[in-house]
Amino acid sequence: MPKARETVLEIDLKALKHNFEYLKSKLNNNTKILAVVKAFAYGSDANEVANYLQSLEVDYFAVAYASEGVALRDAGVETPILVLHPQAINFKTVIERCLEPSLYSAKIFNEFIAIASEEKQSNYPVHIKFNTGLNRLGFSENDVDYIVSKALETSAIKVKSIFSHLAASEDLNEKTFTERQIKTFKSISKEFSKAIGYQPMLHLANTSGVLNYPEAHLDMVRTGIGLYGFGNSKEENKNLKPIATLKSVISQIHTIEKGETVGYNRAYKSEGVEKTATIPIGHADGIGRQYGNKKGFVTVNGNKAPIIGNVCMDMIMIDITNINCHEGDEVIIFGNHPNASQFADATNTITYEIITAISQRVKRLLIKG
Ligand SMILES: *Cc1c(COP(=O)(O)O)cnc(C)c1O
Repeated sequence: MPKARETVLEIDLKALKHNFEYLKSKLNNNTKILAVVKAFAYGSDANEVANYLQSLEVDYFAVAYASEGVALRDAGVETPILVLHPQAINFKTVIERCLEPSLYSAKIFNEFIAIASEEKQSNYPVHIKFNTGLNRLGFSENDVDYIVSKALETSAIKVKSIFSHLAASEDLNEKTFTERQIKTFKSISKEFSKAIGYQPMLHLANTSGVLNYPEAHLDMVRTGIGLYGFGNSKEENKNLKPIATLKSVISQIHTIEKGETVGYNRAYKSEGVEKTATIPIGHADGIGRQYGNKKGFVTVNGNKAPIIGNVCMDMIMIDITNINCHEGDEVIIFGNHPNASQFADATNTITYEIITAISQRVKRLLIKG
């Protein structure tokens, strides 16, 4: 790997392949894989990640919003793309760009049928989302008859899959609740297929569902965080490889006297003669203010250096008093060691938030290996 000379997010496609194959090894041969690439593929680079996964013959992609699907189509992605949370205002675009909507309420379902009919579509693939306990998006079990009767009334759409989402698949204390969700979904699926007269694909499991609930794999799994190298547990994190490494560089080193302060609002006060380094990454890059004042840390030549004072928009300052380093040396914010999960633990948040927060200002650098 080249040494960083500015702030970069390195994306390691070999690690992505490893994670894809690891997750695949958990599945039966006939279970399909949908790769969730919403939010810039969890803060990495959706176009590169999706094109690479397409070359590995992933079966499906999912994004949250229509605009994310459009960007993938513009980048040459031809694999089917499920839009998890579409809005009716984008339905024409959804159809134009061959994106497949998740329909989760009567309102959005009817709006889609109206537009698909207007656009003279037949058997347009749609995915029906059921709420089995997360209480976020989805029809309820009682809506099956309504959906089926409406779907059979029109030739504009065809139900390609029915799905639901687990609320706590990573938390084994919630096993009873999760098993209940799986059971409810299986019963809805049975009822739905019987009523509609054909068998849509069934999918339920996210990454932790893949790892913890084999009985929930069904026809397809939807994996996000696992592809990016995190398994929501210390054990599973060992089997996966973070694909993204956030690196920067020391811009300047200062030696300060006892009692001097560092940064805005003088939030850090030196307790003796100390050495500080200034790093070109700040809250506008995704290192939020909550990481300041020694909550967060970076690594310089293998040594842990706490972030001191307040995080600025474009910079952080770190304590390097006991570290042998120079201006121009590389700084690791997170990658393999420490990884984003350790960074998240230090500030009471989750890996998902840390990695998706890396802003578009940070240059993405692809490592093809
Ligand atoms: C984001 C998302 C996923 C992926 O979850 P991971 O925990 O990252 O694997 C799967 N399904 C739905 C509906 C989602 O919103």
